[in-house]
Amino acid sequence: MTLTPSDLPVELSAATWGVLRGDFPLLIDGRFVPAASGAAQTAHDPATGKGLATFAMGDAADIDLAARAAAKAFAGPWSRLSHFERARLLRKLADLLEANAQLLGELEVLDNGMPIWLAGMTARNNAELFHYYAGWAERIEGTTTTPPAHVLAAGEALTYTLREPVGVVGQIVPWNVPLAMACLKLAPALAAGCTVVLKPAEETPLTAVVLGRLIMEAGFPEGVVNIVNGDGATAGAALVKHPLVSKISFTGSTEVGKLIVRECADDLKKVSLELGGKSPVIVFPDADMEKTVPGVAMATFFLQGQNCMAGTRIFAHADIYDELLEGMAAFTSSMKIGHGLSPDTMIGPLISATQKARVMDFVDEAKAGPARIVTGGNALDVPGHFVEPTIIADTTPDMRVVREEIFGPVMAVQRFEGDDLDAIAARANDSDFGLSGSVWTQNLSTAHRMVARVRSGHISVNTHGAVGSNIPFGGFKQSGWGREFGREGMDLYLETKAVTIAL
Ligand code: NAP
Ligand code: MG
Repeated sequence: MTLTPSDLPVELSAATWGVLRGDFPLLIDGRFVPAASGAAQTAHDPATGKGLATFAMGDAADIDLAARAAAKAFAGPWSRLSHFERARLLRKLADLLEANAQLLGELEVLDNGMPIWLAGMTARNNAELFHYYAGWAERIEGTTTTPPAHVLAAGEALTYTLREPVGVVGQIVPWNVPLAMACLKLAPALAAGCTVVLKPAEETPLTAVVLGRLIMEAGFPEGVVNIVNGDGATAGAALVKHPLVSKISFTGSTEVGKLIVRECADDLKKVSLELGGKSPVIVFPDADMEKTVPGVAMATFFLQGQNCMAGTRIFAHADIYDELLEGMAAFTSSMKIGHGLSPDTMIGPLISATQKARVMDFVDEAKAGPARIVTGGNALDVPGHFVEPTIIADTTPDMRVVREEIFGPVMAVQRFEGDDLDAIAARANDSDFGLSGSVWTQNLSTAHRMVARVRSGHISVNTHGAVGSNIPFGGFKQSGWGREFGREGMDLYLETKAVTIAL
């Protein structure tokens, strides 16, 4: 069944209907083409289950064409452009993203399910990100020095460094924030001077195709960005193995991240990884509860919990344990569940029936005890993939809801007593992951001392998951390799070449 206007709570813009009724081809070497095999698949609205559009499904043959196009563009026009010309193209794309924000927002909500306010927020971030990395493109600089005297006599030599693009980059992204993920990968890679083959997630193929059109409209030379929708096990795996690809940048599950590292070991491709999380949220008794209650609830339930930086292991001090639970239960029950296009929706659908079943499996297991469900705990009996935001109290460190990343709206709460920060940190760090986290306290000393003890790449105080173009983001432990965003985001796509000249 195909989506019609009567399936939706609001009117879609004519531009979005126009795009939905058109094609979603691959972008290879500057041309929009069907898959070589002719394969295509239907994208679905997770809130209604209705079909949205048909998109081309690439496989190894399309990846090969895309990688060749990227290699040709890298050797040719792209590497001959100055940093400043690259920056100008990035800014042009930022402006086009801004001009098309409504279309991209609506399409993203339909494809992924996220609330429209969140799609609007990420649309602004996406434009800003290209402006931000345009700035770094203009600032790519090396250093100068002189070699030690035992290498070349003092005053007789000069050493300088060049920062050069890694080459053709394969970028593989997940479905949870599809357009933002694609932009986060593309902006620094293009700023650095790399060319790209991007593989979006097959669950959310649509916005990447529109992004591809805007990239061509901005004037990027053909082959600089190639976008191949397709399945991970075929298109994704072919990209990882392709001999013309110098680096893989991956965001997704820890399981697939490990698989990619093993594949890349054969030819020692560079790899950067943004993987899963099970981030701790630590609430001290002096926390400002008025801000902490909604803040902690949103740490888990933002984006239906399908969010790698979600704070899903809550450690609450015994003194405020009941107050926090009661407050969050009230706040959570007031969150409107519905189609992401309704302006008052706070909780949209999960991405798929499979994801809903997976999340409910965790919840049902927890229902058996000894933990207790404080609020939520059910899937909605409607066509979309909706699960109530669920708070599970009195959880213990060995439970599966505490150890594994659920990627759904499920919070596991544990109690702590006393003020031994090392003991609290030992519990917060008892995880294979180390992506994000937050500390809630009014005491500056407690905040700084706790932050120093948490083994995570990204941590907030009295807020959770503060991400932005200039804030480095990535994981300790099994949450990943490398940092995206910020200056460090450029380092993922640049090699350093040291040059020494005997004078
Ligand atoms: P996933 O299964 O790992 O998929 C991520 C991407 O990898 C998709 O494009 C997928 O393709 C592709 N893929 C799957 N198997 C592959 C293979 N063998 N070779 C190459 N590519 C392959 O993850 P997901 O289920 O989509 O997303 C949820 C996970 O991503 C969660 O664990 C979450 O924590 C993590 N995540 C992390 C971050 C972060 O920044 N750290 C951000 C978002 C999500 P298809 O799915 O299209 O087949
Ligand atoms: Mg997947």
